[in-house]
Amino acid sequence: MPDYSQLKAKFGERCVLGAPAAGFTTYKAGGAAEALAEPCSPEEFSWLAAWCRANNAPLTVLGGGSNVLVSDKGLPGVTALTGRLSGVEARGAVITAQAGAPWDLVARLSAEKGLAGLEKTSGIPGSVGGAVRMNAGAFGQETFDRLKAVEALDPEGRPVRLEKKDIPHGYRSTQGLERLIIISASFEFTPGEPGVLLQDRSCVLASREVKQPLDLPSAGSVFKRPPGDYASRLIDAAGLKGLRVGGAAVSAKHAGFIVNAGGATAADIYALIGEVKARVKAASGVELELEQILLGEF
Ligand SMILES: Cc1cc2nc3c(=O)[nH]c(=O)nc-3n(C[C@H](O)[C@H](O)[C@H](O)COP(=O)(O)OP(=O)(O)OC[C@H]3O[C@@H](n4cnc5c(N)ncnc54)[C@H](O)[C@@H]3O)c2cc1C
Repeated sequence: MPDYSQLKAKFGERCVLGAPAAGFTTYKAGGAAEALAEPCSPEEFSWLAAWCRANNAPLTVLGGGSNVLVSDKGLPGVTALTGRLSGVEARGAVITAQAGAPWDLVARLSAEKGLAGLEKTSGIPGSVGGAVRMNAGAFGQETFDRLKAVEALDPEGRPVRLEKKDIPHGYRSTQGLERLIIISASFEFTPGEPGVLLQDRSCVLASREVKQPLDLPSAGSVFKRPPGDYASRLIDAAGLKGLRVGGAAVSAKHAGFIVNAGGATAADIYALIGEVKARVKAASGVELELEQILLGEF
């Protein structure tokens, strides 16, 4: 294990050794981060990247932790949270947001300002950095529809700027960003009518309330949508709603979600993911692909 005393000296209370994943993931499950740090400027992120490099410590960057499952064995090295980089600015047709800003702030602000194109992504939990990395989306809109450029740091902590065309991306996937620390992103919109956009936003938020198990810890849809179908439909059709392993359960409200129904370990959730995949394959022949990101050793 690296000597974390320098990290503690640099970040003070913003560095915690052995921080349980329940505190920084929406599954509220999994082991501890060896060291959890909360840099509050791009310069601090750059320092941290260089420190990790020099000390041979792996660096994991997380926003809201709303699309990850952390192993019960924990996360080696440093886990850096972006929540303290949370500035958002609208200028004309462009919104620029720091990586740790809540994604929904961008969705709301764009609708309020009459900037069209991301209003239907309202209510996606997590951060701007996470939304860009995942190309998060909903109701036919996705982050990359409006992405203009990303400011990031490379593994040595040096600034890099990527235009949208430099980032290969697809449905809930991007290439190349996994090795970078996203610091901020800008989005360019087309004009829209604020009243209409805010109405769309309200409909989307209401639909989420009705359809999703928002009262229990989860990380949203477990699997990607297979071509021409929905993972939730296939899971429901296989009769798997309510299926349990330990404290993990396939949501009875939305079959695409696995919820932590109380005291679930990461191993419970992981085993249930495997069980659902196997039973859907047996019932329909479809091989479901994981959308969520596994962190640590499984
Ligand atoms: C109730 C619920 C509903 C959801 N609904 C949707 C939905 O409708 N559509 C959808 O697409 N998703 C949905 N999700 C999943 C999730 O919210 C999104 O994928 C979200 O964009 C993840 O953001 P995050 O900040 O939480 O990312 P995290 O979970 O923190 O991280 C996800 C990945 O991004 C990387 N990452 C995060 N920040 C950075 C950064 N600054 N630099 C580099 N890498 C970074 C992480 O290392 C990790 O690999 C839902 C989740 C929940 C719990």
